[in-house]
Amino acid sequence: MELLKRLYAINSKSGREDEIKRFILSSLSHIALDIKEDEFGNLFITKGKAEVYPCVAAHLDEVHMPSARIIVEIPPTICAVNTEGTRVGLGADDKNGIWIALKLLEEHECIKVALFVEEEKDGEKAGCRGSKACDLAWFDNVGYILQCDRKGANDYIVQAKETPLCDYDFIPTELLRKYKYWPVKGGNTDVAALKRRGFDKPCCNISCGYYNAHKSEEYTNIDELKNCLNFVSDIITYYKNIDNNI
Ligand SMILES: [Zn+2]
Repeated sequence: MELLKRLYAINSKSGREDEIKRFILSSLSHIALDIKEDEFGNLFITKGKAEVYPCVAAHLDEVHMPSARIIVEIPPTICAVNTEGTRVGLGADDKNGIWIALKLLEEHECIKVALFVEEEKDGEKAGCRGSKACDLAWFDNVGYILQCDRKGANDYIVQAKETPLCDYDFIPTELLRKYKYWPVKGGNTDVAALKRRGFDKPCCNISCGYYNAHKSEEYTNIDELKNCLNFVSDIITYYKNIDNNI
């Protein structure tokens, strides 16, 4: 889990995402990718050539103020403390989503990844600022978007507040059973902002193993994070096989 720990060690408070972007780009330097950064700072990554791509989304920012973080692994959990040994936030919301996106870029031949800036509300500033501002045309050849930015282990959000994201049967029952997920209604994140702007393909937001988000007691259950990665990877393979059989 070295990559995950290195992501946690970087503070990416909203509006200060440059360092984590540099780290992400360097960690991807061995893979052939088309990487674009838009004028707002969002990163758009494409691997391979396809008519229709699976897309995975996460957000680059976190709520926590910069502080020295020592990452502590007590299997199956990871948390962070400061130099005095006091618990501090990890930024697992949404480094867990970033970690999954980086792993999927390794695993899959054709995939798109959208990494948004400034998803979190920051004082008076509204959230989802990157996804509200980006050019939707990049998503024209995307078949669906899976965002990994939900607490816990078992939810896939099909409706964010009043915004429908996908049908209840978007993810097949056999995968839900295998990975112990079920459809729920939940809170806001980037895919909901894209939907409100007119993105018309299925989206959902998936539990990725973090708890106590936005608090100093934030932690990750590593087993649940890995389960999320395998779940998302299997959804991508499932839809790829369907497309190949048409
Ligand atoms: Zn989040």
